[in-house]
Amino acid sequence: MSHIAFIGLGNMGGPMALNLLKAGHTLSVFDLSPAALKTLADAGAGVATNAIAAVSDADVVVSMLPASRHVESLYLGRDGVIGRIRPGALILECSTIATRSAVAVAKAAGEAGLAMLDAPVSGGTGGAIAGTLTFMVGGPADALERARPVLLAMGKNLFHAGEHGAGQTAKICNNMLLGILMAGTAEALALGMANGLDPRVLSDIMCKSSGRNWALEVYNPVPGVMDNVPASRGYSGGFGLDLMLKDLGLAAEAAMGAKSPIPLGELARNLYALHSGAGAGALDFSSIVQLLNKRSAA
Ligand code: NAD
Repeated sequence: MSHIAFIGLGNMGGPMALNLLKAGHTLSVFDLSPAALKTLADAGAGVATNAIAAVSDADVVVSMLPASRHVESLYLGRDGVIGRIRPGALILECSTIATRSAVAVAKAAGEAGLAMLDAPVSGGTGGAIAGTLTFMVGGPADALERARPVLLAMGKNLFHAGEHGAGQTAKICNNMLLGILMAGTAEALALGMANGLDPRVLSDIMCKSSGRNWALEVYNPVPGVMDNVPASRGYSGGFGLDLMLKDLGLAAEAAMGAKSPIPLGELARNLYALHSGAGAGALDFSSIVQLLNKRSAA
């Protein structure tokens, strides 16, 4: 069992950290939110007063922060924690960030004698709670073998995508597809409702037809169709719309760098930007249905 520092205890990081505790690891945790810290403290984690204190004795450091700038400011620069982590320790950076940010952290970690993997996740808050996340890992294979028992306490599928940054590139491609699928699913359901269909009946039909996809099967965007999804609790507690917008921005950046066309990704990005601009940025991303559903707009 390892002593693990866990930084970032939000919708994803909170349940991931709880699963590490359940697996028998000891934890030292830090977040800016006192409520998030209390949940972990009640479950037996040690609460640190800042990130440097959290990482000082750790064998493994896990971070689950919103975006590149939070990750870069945690690890890099004069106040970054890299110089404070015990040499030989392993960093597992699980946030969804730019590939170049993951590569920059890996380079700084390597110079400090630390192994680092980018290990972003898929599976949503449901997967984080159930411990069934998919990890997309970038970095050396030997570091992945060291990380395996820790990652398997939080997830069930581990993929080695390639060298440093490759996990993030895979995640960016996946989330661009998810953003498109959610917008398309919302559009189809809104069209059905506008033409008099019950969204539950239409969802059942499409789940057993060729329009079937993850958004429809486990994350229906229309309130009341499914229990235990953000749509049925006021679009709270899931994957923030502004986080999806950030990921579609990362896709746009990757597309520009490689001169690869992403017409549907750009269209989806504009739809989420419109909805965020109308004040929905803190809601779950499935609230995109509100932009398309004439009944909710009325
Ligand atoms: P969240 O906003 O719920 O949680 C982020 C946490 O980080 C918050 O508790 C916040 O207080 C904390 N934080 C921010 N700055 C900090 C700092 N400097 N030091 C310590 N703590 C800090 O976000 P989330 O939904 O848990 O997502 C986290 C990451 O995982 C994002 O990169 C997101 O894109 C990715 N992701 C989210 C989902 C999902 O379904 N929510 C799924 C897969 C991947």
